[in-house]
Amino acid sequence: MESKHLIDWLRDAHAMEKQAEKMLKAQASRLEHYPQLEQRIVKHIEETKRQVEKLEHCMGLLGTDASTIKDLGAQMTAFGQAIGGMMAEDEVVKAGIASYAFENFEIASYKAIIKAADMASQPEISQVCNEILQEEVAMAEWLSQHLDDVTHQYLLREDENLRAKT
Ligand code: MG
Ligand code: FE
Repeated sequence: MESKHLIDWLRDAHAMEKQAEKMLKAQASRLEHYPQLEQRIVKHIEETKRQVEKLEHCMGLLGTDASTIKDLGAQMTAFGQAIGGMMAEDEVVKAGIASYAFENFEIASYKAIIKAADMASQPEISQVCNEILQEEVAMAEWLSQHLDDVTHQYLLREDENLRAKT
């Protein structure tokens, strides 16, 4: 099977990760009162940077790169942009909800890419994207398990009239 769609989807994923890096950095810089969440996000920023490099490696295997109009221009789907806007919210709970949705968007994207790589007989791409997928799953799980803590802290802080937002 030819790899036209695979190339396209790898480029989309590359744009997605570049966007993720920006949003996570913005989020981390606003989380001084939520050190656990901040730490996890900082860890995921490092993972995300490596994911960008891994995707560039995958595109190289197919004789292409990310420097296309698509990557520079449109960057993300409408969904990604909507979620990105929410992640930029000056409120930790809303940003947390959006992050959880974003991680699941990434999970779905990599599942499609892995299937396409398998069908195009690209085992290395399949394996690399499976490594990335595991990091996204771990991040989504972490957010799923901690979102109620964050909400709890947020509401307590607000009750005590402390600065709760970030
Ligand atoms: Mg990612
Ligand atoms: Fe992620």
